[in-house]
Amino acid sequence: MIKWVLKRTKGCGELRKDDVGKEVVLNGWVHTVRRVGKLVFILLRDRSGVAQVVVTPKSKAYELIKSIDREYVIAVKGVVRARPPKQVNPEMPTGEVEVSAEDVEILNESKPLPLPIWDEELMKTTSETNRLRYRFLDLRRDRIRRNIILRAEVTEAMREFYRSEGFIEIETPYLARSTPEGARDFLVPSRLHPKKFYALTQSPQLFKQLLMVAGFEKYFQVARCFRDEDPRADRQPEFTQFDMEMSFVSREDVMHVVEKSMKYVFKKVLNITLQTPFPRLTYEEAIHKYGTDKPDIRFGAELRNLENVKPEDMKAPSNDVVRGFKIVLGSDLRNEVLEHLSKMFRSTGVKGLVIDSTGKTYLGELGAEAIKAVTQELRIESNELGVLASGPYMKVSEALGEVRTYLGRVYGLADPKKFSFLWIYEFPFFEVDEESGRLTPRHHPFTMPKPEDLSKLEKDPLEVKALSYDLVLNGYEIAGGSIRIHDRRLQERMLSLLGLSKEEMIERYGFLLEALEYGAPPHGGIAFGLDRLVAVMAGEESIREVIAFPKNKEMADPLTGSPAKAPEEYLRDIPWLKIE
Ligand code: ASP
Repeated sequence: MIKWVLKRTKGCGELRKDDVGKEVVLNGWVHTVRRVGKLVFILLRDRSGVAQVVVTPKSKAYELIKSIDREYVIAVKGVVRARPPKQVNPEMPTGEVEVSAEDVEILNESKPLPLPIWDEELMKTTSETNRLRYRFLDLRRDRIRRNIILRAEVTEAMREFYRSEGFIEIETPYLARSTPEGARDFLVPSRLHPKKFYALTQSPQLFKQLLMVAGFEKYFQVARCFRDEDPRADRQPEFTQFDMEMSFVSREDVMHVVEKSMKYVFKKVLNITLQTPFPRLTYEEAIHKYGTDKPDIRFGAELRNLENVKPEDMKAPSNDVVRGFKIVLGSDLRNEVLEHLSKMFRSTGVKGLVIDSTGKTYLGELGAEAIKAVTQELRIESNELGVLASGPYMKVSEALGEVRTYLGRVYGLADPKKFSFLWIYEFPFFEVDEESGRLTPRHHPFTMPKPEDLSKLEKDPLEVKALSYDLVLNGYEIAGGSIRIHDRRLQERMLSLLGLSKEEMIERYGFLLEALEYGAPPHGGIAFGLDRLVAVMAGEESIREVIAFPKNKEMADPLTGSPAKAPEEYLRDIPWLKIE
């Protein structure tokens, strides 16, 4: 430190009317400087908030103050005064007072800022690359700072809750063997074991199961997970799960403790009382009503089969179905919305159109009879719009589900202040991988199938349901888990159904299979996507806004320049890792 005499006695954001007359020392960053006549007004900011400082020509700091600019770090000694009534700012927690500066010390200077962090409107036009390149400045913004603090509060409240329920926090390795969650592994070459790699854990799944075999009964962990997936909307190569596992539990037990934890966290952090139990839909019901397994139920617009319109009316084959829904239009039906809908229908491969209350159709045609049938069946009122589509049941439902989500967003149909939780359960165990045509588990291969479906495992696998459950909040999946297989024979049966030979099973999961033979208790658990949970609580669309140092959409970090080339010396130590 070069020189620093004036050490702070109070946080900027803490000043209140009660402090009037007191002498205080504030330390912080110059948020803004305004010069009005001979007076200089500074908004001084620290983590606690912002306070106004006034420097008059009488102050011994007056000369020094001329040189300061935005984001200088300064110390101010002065007396708290009540602001004249006209200058009271009710928007600011410290808006009734100001500090009249007697002495000022400059603790550090700042170069002119590369980001307009003092102006949220200007920030909207700033590229994300630039924001992330200067993330240490971006994080100074009120909104982002609050998000990061909210995240800390949520994590803390989760820890508090689970500890109070008898869970213990245990760390599991990040450098491990593959723990498959359906993504590619990030591999780390081993210097000491030539030609071998660690896999960064995709989740603590197998370790937490081993902890149950070990007898810990209730575990939790704030775990970083690494998944090398292709860039897609709002994915991060590393993200954080609040992961937990319990022994001697049924599906109901896990769901119950999760509901209780959400109730605790929302009360503690946002002072919101959630109603429990949360509503539940089976996977089939969710697809039928909303066309998705993560519906936003803050608004209605439920899908239904349109019995009186035939697929032929929409120029579709007669064995297709016609389904539809209606929404309240918040404003006019704009051309760009229609264009987007047309693209959505085309990309999902279904025949779709929209229809207003007068029977006018857009994006497609319908005969007079069919129009009458639709307007009657959907009862489209004057401020409403009907959407219908024809195609195979699942395709149509999913396409309409996407359209419903899109229109909900465009027309602001969901109340942003509402938090609507929903459980989805009774998932099909398997799905068919489009590329390979192979069966893959929807959750993971360690999930317990519904006991009554076990006989269908080999004969009719697509009919088997899983003892898994997803927790959905405002249209986002914020947690997913299951009851696990705790029997070696069943686990082997499952892995062989997924195409693994005996040798492959032993090679990859031998340690788990073995552990299952030494008194593995029945167990189950769940993992919350902490980033998404906090993003929804903060009202942010992107999880990048609640992560201190996220990667950009290309999975790179413009701040530190990662990923980067490996240094020569490193490569020399791993000669088998040849890089051209
Ligand atoms: N391991 C799962 C996941 O990462 C969560 C769980 O089943 O508990 O999605």
